[in-house]
Amino acid sequence: MNGLQPNPGLRGELRHDEPLAGYTSWRVGGPARSLYRPADRDDLVAFLRDLEPEEPLLWLGLGSNLLVRDGGFSGTVIATQGALDEIRLDGDLGIYAESGCACAKIARTAARAGLVGAEFLAGIPGTLGGALAMNAGAFGGETWPLVDWVETLDRAGRLRRRTPADYQIAYRSVHGPEGEWFLAARLNLLAGDVQAGQARIRSLLERRSNTQPTGQPSGGSTFRNPPGDHAARLIEAAGLKGLAIGGAEVSHKHANFIVNTGGATARDIEQLLEQVRDEVERQFGVRLVPEVHTVGEEA
Ligand SMILES: Cc1cc2nc3c(=O)[nH]c(=O)nc-3n(C[C@H](O)[C@H](O)[C@H](O)COP(=O)(O)OP(=O)(O)OC[C@H]3O[C@@H](n4cnc5c(N)ncnc54)[C@H](O)[C@@H]3O)c2cc1C
Repeated sequence: MNGLQPNPGLRGELRHDEPLAGYTSWRVGGPARSLYRPADRDDLVAFLRDLEPEEPLLWLGLGSNLLVRDGGFSGTVIATQGALDEIRLDGDLGIYAESGCACAKIARTAARAGLVGAEFLAGIPGTLGGALAMNAGAFGGETWPLVDWVETLDRAGRLRRRTPADYQIAYRSVHGPEGEWFLAARLNLLAGDVQAGQARIRSLLERRSNTQPTGQPSGGSTFRNPPGDHAARLIEAAGLKGLAIGGAEVSHKHANFIVNTGGATARDIEQLLEQVRDEVERQFGVRLVPEVHTVGEEA
């Protein structure tokens, strides 16, 4: 355990001025004023109860959908990955997982148990908490149709159990009660065949590595697909593949990915994102909506 403890009863790890570049898949981002990795859920509840009510909070999974600006985040980051990571089978056809569990682990755990429906999660390089916040999906599957219930936590440390009916859920968009974050979920799956589930995971991962720049730091799909079209198609048709600002480049392999070719700043990425959005709008009259979440302050 490193760092200072505000309360000697806390068992997690508290860091100050912690650079966030190492916590995001783009490998960019300035420091968080504080970053807390709880020991477990009880520890997180205690930490939140102690926190100043005005302290800005950012929950962070694997940072695979997050552009943290170069000036960092003036508040407290709650890092769930590697912390809230309990996972178990629940009843005949369910999986209970805490929000810091990697999506890939959930897919593999389900497949090994002969449960099908979560294979698409295998290639999503985030946590369950991020997948719930984003309604992450791929190859026809989406997170929320699997959800039986979620457990949430508010900043006063209060726990609640909620069902999908408490949320407005759409493509890559989830709105629910203000001031609550996802602590865990129970997913409902179907009975299936172990070998078939594992083969489907292998085939989805192969399709992904054939079409996406999986070896380069990125934030995944930069923009949501507009109704009836694909952001990648519009960006490619606008002639923007390979366009670069500093170390940020529109991927040659998948036009909706902005990759960090080395040494990119968050500012490079944000400027490139804006230029792509403006150029697509100028040429096709479609204003793309970012899928990635941008947080923090300019340097
Ligand atoms: C190479 C690559 C491929 C990708 N492919 C896909 C894909 O196929 N489909 C897809 O949907 N996405 C894809 N993504 C995007 C990303 O992986 C997903 O959006 C993922 O769900 C984000 O999870 P995360 O844990 O990394 O979230 P983070 O990036 O850490 O956070 C994303 C948002 O969720 C919030 N959040 C995180 N945890 C919680 C919590 N416990 N409670 C409440 N809010 C929380 C954060 O505050 C932030 O606003 C891809 C990304 C990359 C880099």
